[in-house]
Amino acid sequence: MDVHEFRKHAHRLIDWMADYFEEVEDYPVKPDVQPGDILRQLPDKAPDQAESFEALFEDFKTVIMPGITHWESPNFMGYFPANKSYPSVLAEMLTATLGAQCMSWLTSPAATELEEQVMIWLRKAIGLPELFTGVIQGTASTSTLCALLMARERITGFGVNESGFPKEETFTVYCSSETHSSIEKDVKIAGFGRQHLRKVPVDDDYAMQPEALEQAIREDLEHGYKPAAVVATIGTTGSTAIDPLQQIGNICTRYDIFLHVDAAYAGTALLLPEMRWMSRGIEQANSFVFNPHKWMFTNFDCSAFYVQDEALLVRTFEITPEYLKTPEDQRVKNYRDWGIPLGRRFRALKLWFVLRSFGIEGLQQKIRRHIAMARQLAETIKQHRDFEMLAPIPLNTICFRFHPDHIDDEEKLDELNEMLLSRIQESGKLFLTHTRLQDRYTIRIVPGNTNLEQRHIDQAWTLIKETAGDLI
Ligand SMILES: *Cc1c(COP(=O)(O)O)cnc(C)c1O
Repeated sequence: MDVHEFRKHAHRLIDWMADYFEEVEDYPVKPDVQPGDILRQLPDKAPDQAESFEALFEDFKTVIMPGITHWESPNFMGYFPANKSYPSVLAEMLTATLGAQCMSWLTSPAATELEEQVMIWLRKAIGLPELFTGVIQGTASTSTLCALLMARERITGFGVNESGFPKEETFTVYCSSETHSSIEKDVKIAGFGRQHLRKVPVDDDYAMQPEALEQAIREDLEHGYKPAAVVATIGTTGSTAIDPLQQIGNICTRYDIFLHVDAAYAGTALLLPEMRWMSRGIEQANSFVFNPHKWMFTNFDCSAFYVQDEALLVRTFEITPEYLKTPEDQRVKNYRDWGIPLGRRFRALKLWFVLRSFGIEGLQQKIRRHIAMARQLAETIKQHRDFEMLAPIPLNTICFRFHPDHIDDEEKLDELNEMLLSRIQESGKLFLTHTRLQDRYTIRIVPGNTNLEQRHIDQAWTLIKETAGDLI
């Protein structure tokens, strides 16, 4: 492909992309494919001879597209959204075009300095205290891993970095039983051992019980263990429960334990002053993460990781072989020392495009509207005699189940709701997912897509009601 062809194909692709955005809600949200259906259509080795763009694009449309789950569809209300927006996609095109590596200041000065500034913008926008300094990571999973590694080095005086874990010592980590699975994964990777992860019980609203946290810490201390870190969640993945940060922070301060706050999804709602109660007490946290790549219209990957102790972060990761030394090292940020990978994509650009294209007020309006629409839907569901709400709704995640009057057997209710969800998925008209709360099969609706309108919610509710009605 030469530059003339590139230009020609790029124009065509842009048209295709714009059409896709316009038409996405007409696609079945979940593709009608079985495991292996796509694989079977792919040759078992790469072509020896060059193929035309025509052939490629044709296969993209006929082989790949039928196997895509349309996260971009406003009828996608499963998991948490992975939103994007026009400005974000445009910026991503520029990022790909520049292909700049953002590991040191020198390897792209503008990328480093833009990242520094947009992380300040974002910190101010979500009302995080000035104590925090930010850096973009790929995912919340990696951000939390960074936090746990910082906690590990903090409690061992950088000893594990030097000589590995001391044999005679056991370090413990705490989270709630509703915490995201990535925390357990990170605990394994960081070397603490999952046996030393304490899953603290939650209250009726699925938030961590601070008294139980303190009790677990005390018991571990009595056994001679060393509590290294607590992970609190703002917006758990199951039901967006909000752990009581102030009380958890007080405990961490009292016992001198590293506190990390995982707000991967709900962090975006901190754009709204009326939601800042969720982060009350955040000044006692050592680190905080939220994902603009979930609810903030910035396409994957973009995870905003904030720490209070920049020196601790850098000392945990820093390593400077001769070939990476630059004359400016003393005067600039070298983000390779702020996380795990050396190579880093220029992700600040899309955040900059999003923040400027929407404006903080534009972002606030959209988030506020999502929350209002979800709460209204929740009211409607609540009022229906055959449905019941299974968790509070602080944000826009609704946890509910179908519960007709005459059925009270828990096992039957589980089966019924599993069947309801599967029929909804198969319809291709709506994508929902499930979780278990108090061991009950729970259906979740998360209306938070970039282009969500009231009519999508109305359609969703009609479909849920009708599908449920057909089951009994
Ligand atoms: C989605 C989510 C994560 C994981 O996010 P990734 O960026 O995909 O790693 C972690 N914690 C919570 C609370 C989440 O909702």
